[in-house]
Amino acid sequence: MLVEKEKMYNPEEVIEQFEALTMDAGRVQEETLRKILQDNSETEYLLKWGLSGKTDPESFKACIPLVSHKDLEPYIQRIADGDASPILTGKPITTISLSSGTTQGKPKFVPFNDELMDTTMQIFKTSFAFRNRDFPIGTGKALQFIYSSKQFKTKGGLAAGTATTNVYRNQLFSKTMRAMNTPCCSPDEVIFGPDFHQSLYCHLLCGLVFCKEVQVISSAFAHSIIHAFRTFEQVWEELCADIREGVLSSRITVPSIRAAMSRLLKPDPELADRIYYKCKGLSNWYGLIPELFPNTRYIYGIMTGSMEPYLKKLRHYAGDLPLLSADYGSSEGWIAANVNPKFPPESVTFAVLPNIGYFEFIPLKDNVDGLELEPSPVGLTEVKVGEEYEIIVTNFAGLYRYRLGDVVKVKGFHNSTPELQFICRRNLLLSINIDKNTEKDLQISVEAAAKILADSKLEVVDFTSHVNTSTDPGNYVVFWEVSGEASDEVLKECCNCLDRSFLDAGYMSSRKVNSIGPLELRVVRRGTFHKILDHYVGLGASVSQFKTPRCVGANNTAVLAILCNNVVNTYFSTAYA
Ligand code: AMP
Repeated sequence: MLVEKEKMYNPEEVIEQFEALTMDAGRVQEETLRKILQDNSETEYLLKWGLSGKTDPESFKACIPLVSHKDLEPYIQRIADGDASPILTGKPITTISLSSGTTQGKPKFVPFNDELMDTTMQIFKTSFAFRNRDFPIGTGKALQFIYSSKQFKTKGGLAAGTATTNVYRNQLFSKTMRAMNTPCCSPDEVIFGPDFHQSLYCHLLCGLVFCKEVQVISSAFAHSIIHAFRTFEQVWEELCADIREGVLSSRITVPSIRAAMSRLLKPDPELADRIYYKCKGLSNWYGLIPELFPNTRYIYGIMTGSMEPYLKKLRHYAGDLPLLSADYGSSEGWIAANVNPKFPPESVTFAVLPNIGYFEFIPLKDNVDGLELEPSPVGLTEVKVGEEYEIIVTNFAGLYRYRLGDVVKVKGFHNSTPELQFICRRNLLLSINIDKNTEKDLQISVEAAAKILADSKLEVVDFTSHVNTSTDPGNYVVFWEVSGEASDEVLKECCNCLDRSFLDAGYMSSRKVNSIGPLELRVVRRGTFHKILDHYVGLGASVSQFKTPRCVGANNTAVLAILCNNVVNTYFSTAYA
């Protein structure tokens, strides 16, 4: 039965379906909204807003307000506490997803259901079909750096875990991976292991054991791939020893992982030697991935948005291998697929699948100089090329006109559905008075300053920022972890460059009159950002969905303490001319 179903996956058919759906995106959107509203017409939420069973877009927009997660929190909390009445959805919600929480400082609860699982698989299958057309793979394996988060039961007994964990745990996931010829190298015991350091070590080991079969290296977000190969640099000799002897390192202590790994591991001195000499022969680990896994066709994962700063390092490990950037979605639901896999990650766009939710877009150019006018969203097919929008989601899991908090730009259309470029999170990151700088602005500034560091053959391993208002005037603080020792002179120059690269008029004028003080660059010890990752994982986040918070607020005391306790050097920019 299983085999029969898996055989039925036909990439060409998936592409045909996608073309048909996007050809008539406006109509498909209306039908999708009708279905969502019909399925959930008796819910407390829709009744409360007086929709009274109506399913057309006009009534929907007139009755239902735009909301953020905060507005829905009381409803979601009641669901998590065990109220099985139709609150947000007609069918009871049985699973809760925890968003990675790195953007807000604490994880948010969002509903997860079968429909969300189905749309996730539709996105995966769609982008795979396009990928497979340009980069065909045969039967092989994928080295997937995927991890489960801690799972727990909510007060009402619902299963709760991060969205990626809910997806990985679902049988449909492994079925789909097998049908796409990319089963994971690692056994489930490794993916679902309770300690991600041990899981990571074993993912690497499994990859090496199956090195000739590996065709794809992937993770949900590219950060996990970088993290894995940085770890490889530390533990490669131990991995070789395990392969040579066929005995698993004593660092792996979880019995289920030990048992599963012992079924895979056989003494293989020849393989161990091969890996050993390849590693010895590399210069600064350049091209590590194709050296270790010679039949890899491409590297795959989300490489856009807050993952962009890792691209340089990823290219270093990848050598000539293509980097294919994955789709666009969130714990709240998927939105769009990358159907142009040949585009480099910097110019990737995402085509919205019009049947997986109902999407609206708030034009951002309406907000003149930060004046928040009453938002008037437009429909999926009404967006204009070149414009930026905040995206609003209505989906099959009980979210209605939900502000996701992301800013996207319309780059073009695939048939009649827009192709979106991810710009940044909507939340302002850095602001003291009239200045406004987003995650993207910070990234641009860091990139500019990192070029100075590159002259000393050093790189920024990771970074974040903080708005310091404890002094008068307040100032921006940028934390850097650097790959080695840079001279004070170089770091001072980097600090000045960071300061001068925020080109927002509010910042520049405030700096000139010193209503914002000199920018502070604080260099932290190696491994500090790993400590931050560990901190979030301890709170229930999953490594798979981890995104370094690019701004740490004063209320995020734990992370701020990790950063401040690890500062090794501080530099202030010079006066603004
Ligand atoms: P979470 O639900 O916590 O995993 O985070 C979802 C958020 O990750 C989205 O709202 C986006 O801000 C970001 N994200 C997801 N997919 C992409 C992508 N392909 N490119 C850039 N950012 C993304």
